[in-house]
Amino acid sequence: MSAPRLEIDLDKIRHNTSTLVSLLGERNISVTGVTKAFLGCPEVARAMLASGVTGVGDSRIENLQRMRSSGIDTRMTLIRSPMMSQVGEVVATADISFNTELSVIKALSAAAKKAKRSHRVVIMVELGDLREGFMPEDMAGAVRETLDLPNIQLEGIGTNLACQSGVVPDAQNMGELSALAHALEDEFGIKLNTVSGGNSGNLPWVLGDDTPGRINDLRLGESILLGCEPLHRQPIEGLYTDAIQLIGEVIEIKNKPSRPWGKQAETAFGKQSIANDCGHIPQAIIAIGQQDIDPSGLGFPDGITLRGASSDHLVVNAAGTPLTVGQEITFSLNYSALLRAATSPFVAMVTRCKEAKNPNASFTPIIVDLDIAVDPLDLPVLPLARIA
Ligand SMILES: *Cc1c(COP(=O)(O)O)cnc(C)c1O
Repeated sequence: MSAPRLEIDLDKIRHNTSTLVSLLGERNISVTGVTKAFLGCPEVARAMLASGVTGVGDSRIENLQRMRSSGIDTRMTLIRSPMMSQVGEVVATADISFNTELSVIKALSAAAKKAKRSHRVVIMVELGDLREGFMPEDMAGAVRETLDLPNIQLEGIGTNLACQSGVVPDAQNMGELSALAHALEDEFGIKLNTVSGGNSGNLPWVLGDDTPGRINDLRLGESILLGCEPLHRQPIEGLYTDAIQLIGEVIEIKNKPSRPWGKQAETAFGKQSIANDCGHIPQAIIAIGQQDIDPSGLGFPDGITLRGASSDHLVVNAAGTPLTVGQEITFSLNYSALLRAATSPFVAMVTRCKEAKNPNASFTPIIVDLDIAVDPLDLPVLPLARIA
């Protein structure tokens, strides 16, 4: 099979999704499955949908279009403020979009009218992470103007924390979101269908002792795919953290000195490498590089440690394990490494699930062997516990 490749275990994605859906369901919170890390891969979306998410969300309209054209018929939300230049595509493809600019909501209204459609908007509020959203004091004005627009329905309000500044969702800011929902409902005599509290970073808060208040939706990507929460990158008990693996292939192994020789200046990526002299080491090169992964986001197998990475080469010390040229090495990935790998045209994606050999196992321009061995999956029964 071709390397490098991402292997996605759809059974584990399903397990993670349904576990989170039921944990949040107990708190009357629905899950929007976020598909952007895999560029709207229809099989990943279907795995999420089969496990109880109420719809999919993606930040890129192209990814939503990809899922639509593969026949996925579910509620689709554009979770990044639409570009003015894409409002036509947005009303054609997304049922709902997250919005932060009145000029864009007006353009969506005009586009929806032209297309004889109705489009729903969630208005985003800034609660401290300093990414998207109206300032809280400007929300009432935004709602007032939105309610007046033809072919636009106000679906609800939402916020996003953690991603930009690492601001932690807690009783304070989530309470503020709930209070804002109540205040807007009272002021305008409306009912907000959706109060979307945030992303995987909200899980420690929501699984804690707090009541979720008016929050009835979370948008989950990383926790479903990688089984961890993004605030401290702690694994969530009961979830698989190995649903996605990266496979790379060894192209060189040589015993080399551990220190470079000659006069040193900057490397391809700026920093000068500083290496301790520990004699000769078995140095191996894996055919994957900065163009395909974030090297600092890879988890290495036992016996292999990172030496460095340039555009196309991952250099490792293989002192702890014998390697051969042509051998495949399996890595785990964090969100940053996953995002880059899934976006690289040089990394194939292969999905597997136990039910059947998947007829659409490959969906990158790279041709991969579709005849994938199907492992019998042994799902462990893990106690579901709160996140510390
Ligand atoms: C990416 C994104 C999410 C999903 O975040 P995860 O941490 O992967 O769960 C949710 N909401 C918005 C607005 C996003 O851009």
